Amino acid sequence: MIKTHILGYPRIGAQRELKFALERHWRGEIDETALEAVAADLRARHWAEQRAAGLDVVSVGDFAFYDQVADHVLLFGCAPARFGFTGAETPLQQLFTLARGVATEAPSACGCGHAHGAQPHGKPALEMTKWFDTNYHYLVPEFDAATRFGLAPDRLLAQVAQARALGHPVKVTLIGPLSFLWLGKAKDGADRLALLDALLPHYCVLLARLKAAGADWVQLDEPVLGLDLPGDWSLAFERAYHLLNGAGASLLLATYFSPLRENLSLACKLPVAGLHVDGVRAPEELGPVADWLPAHKVLSVGIVDGRNIWRADLDACLARLRPLIERRAGDLWLAPSCSLLHVPSTLAHDAALDAELRTWLAGAREKLDELRILKRALDGTGQPEDLAPARAALAARRASARVARPDVAAALAALPPDADRRAAPFAQRQDVQRARYALPAFPTTTIGSFPQTAAIRTARAAWRRGELPDADYAAAMRAEIADAVRVQEDLGLDVLVHGEAERNDMVEYFGEQLDGFAFSANGWVQSYGSRCVKPPILYGDVRRPAPMTVGWTTYAQSLTEQPMKGMLTGPVTILQWSFVRDDQPRALTCAQIALAIRAEVADLETAGIGIVQIDEPALREGLPLRAASRAAYLDWAGRAFRIAASGVADTTQIHTHMCYAEFNDILPAIAALDADVITIETSRSDMELLTGFGAFAYPNEIGPGVYDIHSPRVPTTDDMVRLLRKAAAVIPAGRLWVNPDCGLKTRAWPETEAALRNMVAAARVLRAESRTA
Ligand code: GLN
Ligand code: ZN
Repeated sequence: MIKTHILGYPRIGAQRELKFALERHWRGEIDETALEAVAADLRARHWAEQRAAGLDVVSVGDFAFYDQVADHVLLFGCAPARFGFTGAETPLQQLFTLARGVATEAPSACGCGHAHGAQPHGKPALEMTKWFDTNYHYLVPEFDAATRFGLAPDRLLAQVAQARALGHPVKVTLIGPLSFLWLGKAKDGADRLALLDALLPHYCVLLARLKAAGADWVQLDEPVLGLDLPGDWSLAFERAYHLLNGAGASLLLATYFSPLRENLSLACKLPVAGLHVDGVRAPEELGPVADWLPAHKVLSVGIVDGRNIWRADLDACLARLRPLIERRAGDLWLAPSCSLLHVPSTLAHDAALDAELRTWLAGAREKLDELRILKRALDGTGQPEDLAPARAALAARRASARVARPDVAAALAALPPDADRRAAPFAQRQDVQRARYALPAFPTTTIGSFPQTAAIRTARAAWRRGELPDADYAAAMRAEIADAVRVQEDLGLDVLVHGEAERNDMVEYFGEQLDGFAFSANGWVQSYGSRCVKPPILYGDVRRPAPMTVGWTTYAQSLTEQPMKGMLTGPVTILQWSFVRDDQPRALTCAQIALAIRAEVADLETAGIGIVQIDEPALREGLPLRAASRAAYLDWAGRAFRIAASGVADTTQIHTHMCYAEFNDILPAIAALDADVITIETSRSDMELLTGFGAFAYPNEIGPGVYDIHSPRVPTTDDMVRLLRKAAAVIPAGRLWVNPDCGLKTRAWPETEAALRNMVAAARVLRAESRTA
C-alpha cells in the first residue's frame, strides 16, 4: 500500500495569523481563550488542507505557540527550577516565560528576523539556537544532574481530541527522547544521556495515553541519527526503543537533514513499526534502507524537498520511488523530506511574484498536492495528464533565459585561477595600508549600521508605497548619512561608516539590486516565536546590472577627511539566507554572487574608497551537519569570499565581520579568508573566543567586539579597557582594532553615542598604556 503523510506543517498561518495573535496577546489585547481559539482554527484549517490533498493521516503535535522543543520541556515536566514555577501559572504563562523570560528590559529585535540572543535581566529566557542547519531557532532545554521529569499531556491530548472530533485519522509527532536530550544543554556539565532512564518511563506512559486517545501512529523525530553521534548515544537507541516499542501506538522513527551513514543499520534495526528517511539530502541511502529495513516495516520516503521551495521534478521522484516499490513488500509512505515548517505556507498566488515564477515554486500547500500526484502515479489511480503541469513548469524553468545567462557563465569562466588571491601577502599589504592611512594604534571603528530610527523606517515605507518621490527619499537618507558622519567625527572614531540608513535588511538590499533574485509578498517562514523571515528567492544566474552602494558611500566620504569604510554583504551570507536554486551546485551559485560583489568592491575602490568590509555573519551556519563534509564546504565558501575580496590593490584594506556563532572550530578557514581585518563578536563570551585566536595565532588584524550591542546597557570605559587588555594578552597589540560586537541598527542614538564615546576613551587608555610600556 502506498500512503502519504507529512512530518509537520507550518503553524504560523498563511497570513501569519498566529504571529499577530501572539503579539496581541503579549500586548495584553487578547486573552488566552482568544489566543487558543486562533490556534484551534489554524490547526483545523491545516488538517483540512492535509486531508483535502488525500493524506492518509493528519499530523498532530506539530503545532506550537512558540516552539516545539519548549513544548516538550513542559510536556515532560522539566522546566528549569530557576523559573520558580509553582503550578499556579497557566501552561501558556509557563511557556511564554520559558520563551521570553521575565525581562526588566525589552530584548532587542533588529527586524532581520534572525535570533540575536537577547539577554534581558531578571529571569532570562531559555537560550535559543538554530535547529540543526536550518534558520529556525529552538529554545534550548536546560538540564542538570538533578533534573526530574514528569508528564503533562493534557494540551497534546486535547489536540488529538480536536483532530479526532473533526474525523481525522491521527499521527502524533513528538521529538524522540535521544534527540530531546541531545538538543538540551547541561549547565553543570552533567551527562545528559544519564537522564535517559528517568525520561523513558514518561514517554511510555505518554505513548499509551496517545493510543487510548485514538492516535494510531506516533512519529518520533530523531534527527540526531544524522549527526556524528558519540558511541554511547547510538548504543542507547536500542535500549530506549525496546522500551518504547509496544508501549502504545505504532512508532514511526523519523530522521532527516543529513545522511545516516554509520547509523543506517542501527536505524533499520530499531524495534519500531516504520522508518522515515530523507531522500532529498541522502538519496544514495534509499536503496540500502529499502534492502535492510525488515519487510514488515513501513518505509517512509522523504521524496519532496521540505527545505526548499522549488516545484518537485515528479518524473525524477517517480524514478527514485519505483525501484523501492519493487524491493519492498511492506507499506511505502511518501512524505516531504522533513517538516514543512521550513517553507512558506503557499506561494501559488503570491502577489509579488510574476505568473511564470509562481509556477516554478511550491510552498507547503503545493507540496501536499505533489504527494498526491506521486501516490496516484504509483498506485495507478491517477491520470497521465496529472503530471503535465509540473512537467511543463519544469521544462520552462530549465529553458528560461532568466535562469541561465551566458554572460554570467562566461564571466565566471574568464576568471583567472588566482582570482581568489590578493597580489601580495598580508605582511606586505599591512605595510602599505599603514602608510596610506596612518591610523593610530588600536584604531576604532563600528560594524556598519547606525540606529534605524522611526523616521528612517517611515520614510522607506512611504517611498515603497509610492507616496514619497525617489528624490525626497534619497534626500532623507543623505541627511541621515550626514548626521551619522558628523556624530562619528565628534566621537573621534578613526574609520567611519555611512550607517546603512538606506538598508532594510543586509541581504534583501543586495538581492533587490541583483539579477537572479525575486521577492515574494507573503513567503514567510518562522524563525523563532512570532518572528518570521521572508528569504529572497534566488532563481537564476546572478548578475550585477549596476553599482549598488557606490553612490551612498562616496557621498559619505565626501563629507569627511577620515577614511570611509564601504559596506557589503558577502556571497556566503547572501546564499545562506536565501532560498537557493536547486538546479546547480550551491558552490557555483555562491561563486556567481561573489563575482557580483567583486565588481562592487572594484567600483568602490575606483571611486576612492580604500577600506571595504564584506560581512559574512552566516559563514559558520552553512557548515554541514556531518564533519566529513565540512572541509569541502569551507573550501568553496572561502573561495567565494576571496573572489569577492581579492580583486583590489594591496593598498585597499578588506575587512570582514562575523557574529551569531562560536568560531573557534573553524579558525583555520577564517584565517584562510585572508581579510586584512576581521571584526568579530566576542563580548558576550567575555572574549572566550580569543583563546582560540591566540592559540591558533590568527595572522591578520582583528577587532574583537568590546561591547554587546544586543543590550541597551551602556558599557563603561573600564569594562572595555578590561576586555581590551584581555585581548592584548593573546593578540599582538599592533594587530588589534576596537569596535562593538555587531551593527547598531537595533539601538537608539543616545545609548549608541554614549557607548561609542566610552569605547573611544577605552582605546585611548590602551594607546597611552602601550606608549609607556
Ligand atoms: N554591517 C551589518 C550591520 O552593521 C552587519 C550585520 C550583521 O553582522 N548581522 O548591521
Ligand atoms: Zn554582526
